[in-house]
Amino acid sequence: NKQVLFKDYVTGFPKESDMAVVESTIQLKVPEGSSEILLKNLYLSCDPYMRSRMSKNFTAHPSFVPGSPLTGFGVARVLESGNPNFKKGEFVWGLTGWEEYSLISSNQMLFKIEHADVPLSYYTGLLGMPGMTAYAGFHEVASPKKGEKVFISAASGAVGQLVGQFAKLAGCYVVGSAGSKEKVDLLKNKFGFDDAFNYKEEQDLNVALKRCFPDGIDIYYENVGGKLLDAVLLNMKMNGRIPVCGMISQYNLDQHEGVTNLVHIIYKQIRIQGFTVNEYFQLYPKFLGFVLPHIKEGKIVYVEDKAEGLENGPAALVGLYNGCNVGKQVVVVAHE
Ligand code: NDP
Repeated sequence: NKQVLFKDYVTGFPKESDMAVVESTIQLKVPEGSSEILLKNLYLSCDPYMRSRMSKNFTAHPSFVPGSPLTGFGVARVLESGNPNFKKGEFVWGLTGWEEYSLISSNQMLFKIEHADVPLSYYTGLLGMPGMTAYAGFHEVASPKKGEKVFISAASGAVGQLVGQFAKLAGCYVVGSAGSKEKVDLLKNKFGFDDAFNYKEEQDLNVALKRCFPDGIDIYYENVGGKLLDAVLLNMKMNGRIPVCGMISQYNLDQHEGVTNLVHIIYKQIRIQGFTVNEYFQLYPKFLGFVLPHIKEGKIVYVEDKAEGLENGPAALVGLYNGCNVGKQVVVVAHE
C-alpha cells in the first residue's frame, strides 16, 4: 500500500520534502463484525485548506498526524464494507487517506456516487467539496441578482471557475483575476467570463479594477485576501456583498498583510461574510439537481489538472501555493 506520509509540522511555505512517499506492507482488512469500510482510492483532491492542517495548533481543522498519511477528499471504490449503506463495488466520494487503500471508519464523511455517467474525478471538484463551496458562497451567501457586477479572485481554480459560470447563468456581469496569461485566456474563452486580468502584471490593482468596473462591484467572491482585497474595498458599490471563501495569499505568511481600506465597509454598507462549506452540505442534493443538467447540456464546463501517480501528490499539493495548477488539481492514484 503506497502512502504519502506527513513528516512534521510546517511553518511558512510547504515543501515536497514535508511529505514522504513510502510503501506499507500492512494488509488492510475489515475486521469481523466491524462497520469499517475498505476503499481503493482512485482520485485525491489537492485543496488549499490542507496547508492549515500542516500547522501544529490550527483550530478550524484537525492537524495532520506526523508519521501518518495525509487525509483529504477523494473518490474511491468500495472493496469491503461492514456498513450496510455502502456495498462492495460502489463508487464513493468523501474523506479518505493519501494512499492506495484506506480502511476508514463508518462515521467519516462519505457520499455514495449515484451519477457515474460523468468523469468520476469531478467528485473531487465540480461535483464535490469545491463545487458545493462555489454554489453555497455564491447563491446562499452573496444572494446575487440579475445584472449585478461580480468579481472573482483565483478565478480559474477549482472554486473560481465555477463561481464565474454560476454567475453568468444568474445573468451577472463577471470579471476574474488569475496569475498567468494561460489562465486569463481560459477565463475569457472557456468559462465565458466577460473580462479578466492577470493580477501579477498589473502595476496598480485599483486601476485594473476601475478599468473593469467603472461603476463599481456588487459582489466580490473572495479567494485570495491581502492586497487584492484592499483594492477591491475601494471599488465596491453601496450595499455590496463579499462572501469570504478563502485568503490563500495569507496562508503561508507568519504575519498577515494589513488591509488599509477596511473603513469602506462602513461607508458603503458592505456585507462581508465568512463561510465554510461544512455548514452547507445539507444542500448537496439541491446542488446536484441544479448542476447535473447544466453539465449534461454542456452549459457548465470544468478544467482539471491531473497529476498521475500518488508519488506526484506532494508536488501537486505544494504547487497550489505557487499557482502551478491550471484548474482543479487532482492526483490520480488509480484509473477506474
Ligand atoms: P485553486 O484551484 O484556485 O488553487 C489555488 C490558486 O490560488 C492557485 O492556482 C493560484 O492561482 C492562487 N494563488 C496561490 N497563491 C496566491 C497568492 N499569493 N495570491 C493570489 N493568488 C494565489 O484552489 P481552490 O479553488 O480549491 O480554492 C480557492 C480558495 O477557496 C482558497 O482560498 C481556498 O482556501 C478557499 N476554499 C474555501 C472553502 C470554504 O469552505 N470556505 C472550501 C474550499 C476552498 P493564480 O495562478 O491565479 O494565482
